[in-house]
Amino acid sequence: MPQKKKKRAIQKRKANAVKRKSPAIQRKRRQTAAKKHEIAVIDTIAAMRRFASTARAKKKKIGFVPTMGALHEGHISLIRAAKKDCDVVIVSIFVNPTQFSPTEDLSKYPRTFDSDQKLIAGAGGHAIFYPTNMMMYPEGYATYVTVESLSSLLCGVTRPHHFRGVTTVVTKLFTIITPDIAYFGEKDYQQAAIIRRMTADLNLPVMIKTCPVIRAENGLALSSRNRYLSDKEKADAPLLCRSLLAARAAYAKGGRDVKALTDIMESVLRGGKTLRIDYIAFVDAATLAKKTTADNNTRIIMAVYCGSTRLIDNMAIR
Ligand code: AMP
Repeated sequence: MPQKKKKRAIQKRKANAVKRKSPAIQRKRRQTAAKKHEIAVIDTIAAMRRFASTARAKKKKIGFVPTMGALHEGHISLIRAAKKDCDVVIVSIFVNPTQFSPTEDLSKYPRTFDSDQKLIAGAGGHAIFYPTNMMMYPEGYATYVTVESLSSLLCGVTRPHHFRGVTTVVTKLFTIITPDIAYFGEKDYQQAAIIRRMTADLNLPVMIKTCPVIRAENGLALSSRNRYLSDKEKADAPLLCRSLLAARAAYAKGGRDVKALTDIMESVLRGGKTLRIDYIAFVDAATLAKKTTADNNTRIIMAVYCGSTRLIDNMAIR
């Protein structure tokens, strides 16, 4: 190709790439893909309110699954549960900035809208709410919802502002979407407990349902953050689940002392060179209060750094 023609072709390709990135073009692409997959992509708060109130006027039961995208089978299990109970299933995709601290991974959090859309449509979801940061937190935003005490335990020690961000955005999403039932994963056990507390305390007219942790075959709890793991870290990560199972097995054999059960878990985790324990806690499954002696209502909750990625997991002791 002559030099001039080549240069022009490169310029054209660059211009097209810029065009592809423009919000208007992206929006149009989303809407075209939505038509193909027969799913509504709703990207304004006003349109979301209209969609919900139309469904409500038709006496449809609304199920809601809040997510940050980068969907996997864990998220899909919530959509399937919602499909069973409800007439209309709405999934939000919003990487909520207020639940990340300045040192956390907000900018590199995976964003995979196109494949998310296919997965949601494939699971039978009816609409995706996909707001921007500016819509959810416009200039001058100053209102937060905090669930006292529960938010500062366990994960709240390492992530002091995290749950305030979660409860704030979930409250906003509830008021916009007005679901009858909202679905959360037990993977984020403390989060689900906090959302239940908040919903009860604020008399929010929504039922909270939780669904079991979905795991890979090797036991690793599925998480959008698993894609950050290197091969070495991927090999170590299933030890979280294995340590929970080891504590469970010891409990089944009569082990009740939390210190001894924690030692068992730590020795399993020491098998992974890339692992560093943030915390291991044996708590009451309902109140999250720490226990020194395990019983049938105990939930084991843990956070472990795998390289620089913080992974969480939990399991009922029985
Ligand atoms: P996220 O996109 O990480 O904010 O998660 C959205 C919802 O999916 C939350 O209610 C999570 O608890 C749930 N979830 C994430 N991973 C899993 C999993 N492995 N099993 C079950 N639920 C999950």
